[in-house]
Amino acid sequence: MAKVVIIGGGASGIVAAIKASKKHEVTLLERNDKLGKKILITGNGRANYWNTLIESKYYHTDDVMALEDVLSHKDEVFSFLSSIGLYPKEIGNFIYPYSKSAASLRELLLYALQDKVKIITNFKVQEIIKVGKEFHIKSKDGECIKAEKLVVASGSKAMPKTGSDGSLYPILENLGHTLHPVLPSLAPLIAKHKVPSWEGVRVDASLTLHIDGEAVMQEEGEVQLTKNGISGICIFNVSGEASRALNKGSQVYITLHFLPFLENFAAFIRSRRTVMGNVSIEKSLESIFPYKLLFVLLEYASIEREKKLDLLSSEEIKRLERAITSFRVDIASADYEKAQVCTGGIPLKEIDVHTFESKKSKNLYIVGEILDVDGNCGGYNLAFAFISGYLAGSIL
Ligand SMILES: Cc1cc2nc3c(=O)[nH]c(=O)nc-3n(C[C@H](O)[C@H](O)[C@H](O)COP(=O)(O)OP(=O)(O)OC[C@H]3O[C@@H](n4cnc5c(N)ncnc54)[C@H](O)[C@@H]3O)c2cc1C
Repeated sequence: MAKVVIIGGGASGIVAAIKASKKHEVTLLERNDKLGKKILITGNGRANYWNTLIESKYYHTDDVMALEDVLSHKDEVFSFLSSIGLYPKEIGNFIYPYSKSAASLRELLLYALQDKVKIITNFKVQEIIKVGKEFHIKSKDGECIKAEKLVVASGSKAMPKTGSDGSLYPILENLGHTLHPVLPSLAPLIAKHKVPSWEGVRVDASLTLHIDGEAVMQEEGEVQLTKNGISGICIFNVSGEASRALNKGSQVYITLHFLPFLENFAAFIRSRRTVMGNVSIEKSLESIFPYKLLFVLLEYASIEREKKLDLLSSEEIKRLERAITSFRVDIASADYEKAQVCTGGIPLKEIDVHTFESKKSKNLYIVGEILDVDGNCGGYNLAFAFISGYLAGSIL
């Protein structure tokens, strides 16, 4: 029985603690006044904690082979979650607790921890020193806790108000690790030129991410137009790629197609003219686009709202086609404060993924989102946090 300390009472740290407590004396340190603060806001409060299709192609990482090794344990970990009482509900490929309540997922995890683990909250780790074989873990208030084995499960710096602010990255660098650039992912994108007037509009659209002029990713779904830029699940899914490109100094823009089903724009205009040629362009499109968006599209195309549809010149029709089918939004950055995860972190290559032990420092284990693994929307990130926490906690 070893003295194990786990830093971080989130998804990965709690599961690591549940498993490690079967064999060891475990202390869980958390900077917040309660555990699992981030779990409560996952999946809009419903905790999309798993996916029926957990495969490496839905993740971004520095070491795909190692990730595949990790993910091969998915069935074992899913059974473990069921064994502590989690009853799943599938909606498409997404899996939620049957209650569709993130609070119930957190309660279940806390129940499995109960009486088996010493929990210390309001303990913000500020420094870790290795003294002989021991780790000395110091809080910002000068307290010191000693460990024979240490698990770092402190998350990334996405949405720092939940507690994970990236404070362990430099500490792990001091213990010999390197760090891949940590950037927001699954995040809203901030536009270079803001369009405050379209705030609040939600539309079905397809989008293409362009990096240095090359189309690199496409998505389709609901896009939310915000005062600072664009948001929504399909934007989230390209935001990691956008962040990495921006970090390299590339030019990044997104084109939005607001009528993705449309095959032929000229035919579309001809058919609108047949029924509404004698009315203003504004009137002829009002049943298709919300007003706020319509006005932005007409301004983008430099067409007066009152101009009759029949009187549009071929040049104006081309501009309208560009506005509706490839509206360009130049991207300045992604938003950490609203990001669900971070891309980048401690390289998976620096970890033995069978045990999650660091290759740089013996008896140090690193799990969860602090590692360079981030998944798409759909339960992939909680699943990785659970699988990595489970493996480390079972083996150490
Ligand atoms: C709004 C939102 C919605 C999301 N929805 C989903 C979803 O539906 N499905 C999905 O799969 N993923 C979702 N995610 C992502 C998912 O929540 C994370 O990937 C996952 O929680 C990461 O778990 P973790 O244990 O690695 O880190 P965290 O859950 O971030 O836990 C880390 C813990 O460490 C503590 N800590 C940090 N630094 C210190 C320190 N210095 N000292 C002491 N303690 C410290 C933090 O306070 C925190 O409690 C969402 C994220 C957000 C923000």
